[in-house]
Amino acid sequence: MSRRSKIREKIMSRVHVDEATGCWIWTGPTSGESGRGAGYPRMSLGGQTVAVHLVMWTNEHGYIPGKKEIDHVCRNRLCVRPEDDHLELVTRKRNILRQWEARKAAMVCEEI
Ligand SMILES: [Zn+2]
Repeated sequence: MSRRSKIREKIMSRVHVDEATGCWIWTGPTSGESGRGAGYPRMSLGGQTVAVHLVMWTNEHGYIPGKKEIDHVCRNRLCVRPEDDHLELVTRKRNILRQWEARKAAMVCEEI
C-alpha cells in the first residue's frame, strides 16, 4: 500500500461520516476545548503532532502554497473531508474576511 493510502486509511478509521452535512467528523484527539485555535483535529504522524484536516488535504491535493491556508467552508472545525464543499484553499486575507462576515451575520441574527 502506498504511503498516501496508509495515511488516508489511518485517518478514515477515526472518522464519522455525518449523513446530513456530508462532513467527515474527526473522532480522535483535538487541539483543546477552548481558546484560539481550539477544536481542530489532531493526530500523531511520524512522531509529530499534526492537524488532521491539513494532512488530509495535502495527502489528496499536494502541498499548501505559502500565504494560502485551508478554510472550513462547512464551518465544522472537526471536518477532514478534502473536497471543495468542506475544505478549500484560500488566501489568508480571504479567510479572515470570511470569519468576519460569519461573525457579523451571527450578530445580526442575535439582534433580530
Ligand atoms: Zn465538512
